[in-house]
Amino acid sequence: MSDPAPFPNIPGLRMTKQRKEVYRVLMEQRDHPTATEVYDRIKNSAPSISLATVYNCLETLVDHKAVKQVNFERGPSRYCPNLVEHGHFQDEATGKIHDINLKEGVSLCDLLDLPPGTHISNLEINLKGSLPQN
Ligand SMILES: [Zn+2]
Repeated sequence: MSDPAPFPNIPGLRMTKQRKEVYRVLMEQRDHPTATEVYDRIKNSAPSISLATVYNCLETLVDHKAVKQVNFERGPSRYCPNLVEHGHFQDEATGKIHDINLKEGVSLCDLLDLPPGTHISNLEINLKGSLPQN
């Protein structure tokens, strides 16, 4: 048995067994799974969990900012446990979504000409394209 992933200590977020399981699955394989993929992965360790419960757990984790929801066009929502500010890059050849870190010292907001004092509550960078060959 491997140690469970540490559950983020977020005020107001109760660590139910099911939320812990969902979070563990997200941490275990950080490939931005959909809710259905999380459900498929969780079934071995928590066979009694339903897809509806997985959706609820994911929604709660997103609401409490323990997990990020990633949306590419009309595709199903995907989930990312990386809370460091970053962008997402979808490889058109494979459909895989990669985390792209910001260059050191750069904040996403620095790229935009915003009026001083603007408060950003949500900013996402989603890129699509092809990765360099070899
Ligand atoms: Zn991510």
